[in-house]
Parts: sequence; structure tokens; C-alpha cells
Amino acid sequence: MTMLLEEMKLIDAHVHLSDLDYAGHIDELIADAKASGVTALMTNSMDLATCQSDLQLAEKYPCLVYPALGIHPWNVNVLKEGELEQAIELISRYKSVIKAIGEIGLDATYETVWEKQMMVFDKMLHLAETLELPVIIHSRGTTDKIIDMLPSYRLKGVLLHWFSYPLVALSKAMDKGYFITEGPPATYSSGIREIVEKVTLTQFLTETDGPVKYYKRPFCAQVTKPSFIRNVVEAVAEIKKMQVDEIAEQIFANFQLFFNIKLS
Ligand SMILES: [Zn+2]
Repeated sequence: MTMLLEEMKLIDAHVHLSDLDYAGHIDELIADAKASGVTALMTNSMDLATCQSDLQLAEKYPCLVYPALGIHPWNVNVLKEGELEQAIELISRYKSVIKAIGEIGLDATYETVWEKQMMVFDKMLHLAETLELPVIIHSRGTTDKIIDMLPSYRLKGVLLHWFSYPLVALSKAMDKGYFITEGPPATYSSGIREIVEKVTLTQFLTETDGPVKYYKRPFCAQVTKPSFIRNVVEAVAEIKKMQVDEIAEQIFANFQLFFNIKLS
């Protein structure tokens, strides 16, 4: 018997609940998640302050919000003195509640701070090794480089978020057992739809990357909400020529496997 669409359990595997754009609206977002069937949100930090507030959100919404903590490459240039060390200390102290090190990575459009990006990324990868946690990676313009770098670290799991190109790197990532996430662009971007078509479904998760805004239809620059996941799952089902509930069930299983979380 096929599952009723209302009963589907959906996953937002990459969101930034501590972003200032969401300040004062978290209760609404959580209500939207629950109403739309989103049963787990992996909130990703960007710097020390968002590491702290993501931990608080995970505590406030147990069994729904899970924390991935780390320093984002966009923030390496504004790190305060001692902030990196304090973040590493905080993450180490809370390792039993943290589910991944993220969002970390390298961004080719921030070339001016390349050496600092490399230094911070290396520290984050070592931290993931030490704490035996998977990593969530931002790889804008750097996917090939990152895929070449990662084998020198002993990582529990690798998730390349918003994987966009090149397609040849997708097969490398799949061969290595890495996971990828895709979000609302799966509904309108031909490039992302091609990646979804080629991805191995057991290595795939859905995301919103909220509060990033999507300007195309049906999102039209509305505030990004967990309920957008339903549109993503429907788009993936259409691309993969499968039932929506089959896609949702597979992603629900993938999330638990990748992050070592038991969802009910
Ligand atoms: Zn992100």
C-alpha cells in the first residue's frame, strides 16, 4: 500500500537556523517544518556565535533540530583573535550532541583569503577525524580540489552540499561513497536536475540551505522554509521516475545512516 503524502517523513539535511535572517522567526519555522512533515533539520553553523546558538536550538527542539558545527570559509576573514581555537574547544566539549562538522570547505570566489581558508579547512578536517564525525562541505569552484584532498584524512563520512559541477566529479564522489545534497534548484535548474538524474539515490539527501533565497518559481524569493523540501522531493521523484513516497523513504533512511541518528 502506498503511503499517504501527508504521512511522509521529510528531511532538511542542510539549513542555517541561526542565521540573522531567521532571528525572531524560529518558532514559525519549526511549526512550518512540523506541518509539512519535515522530521529532522541539520542546522549548520558559520562561526563561533552560530555554533553556540545552533547548540541552543538543538537543545530547545530535541529529536527535530540536530547541530553540525564548524567555521565556514566565508567567515575565515572576519574571525576574531582566538575565535577558531574557542570554536574547536566548544565543538570538542559538545561532541556527544554534535552530528557533523559543518559547514566547512573552500570557496574559489574568496581567493583573497585562500591560505587562511586552507588553514581553517585543514583544522576542521582534523577535528572531524579526532571526534569521529562526518563533514558537511561547501565546495564552490573547488569540488575537484577537495575530492583530491580528502583521502589524506580519515573521515567518517563526507557530504558535499549543493553539489553543482562538474559531472565527472559526481562520479568520483559517488565511487568514494560520499553523499551529496540538493535543494530547491532541483525544481528549476537544468544543471542540478542532471546531477539528480545521475546521483546514486542511496547517497543523496535533501536540503533547503535556508535562509538562502530562491528567485525562480514556485519560490519567488519568499522566505525559505522547511516546507520547500516537499517541492524538492517531488522534483526528485519526477526526475528519477519514481514515487514521491519511495524517494522520501530512501532519504529518511540515508539521513539516519549518514549522521548515525535514529529517527522515529
Ligand atoms: Zn549552507
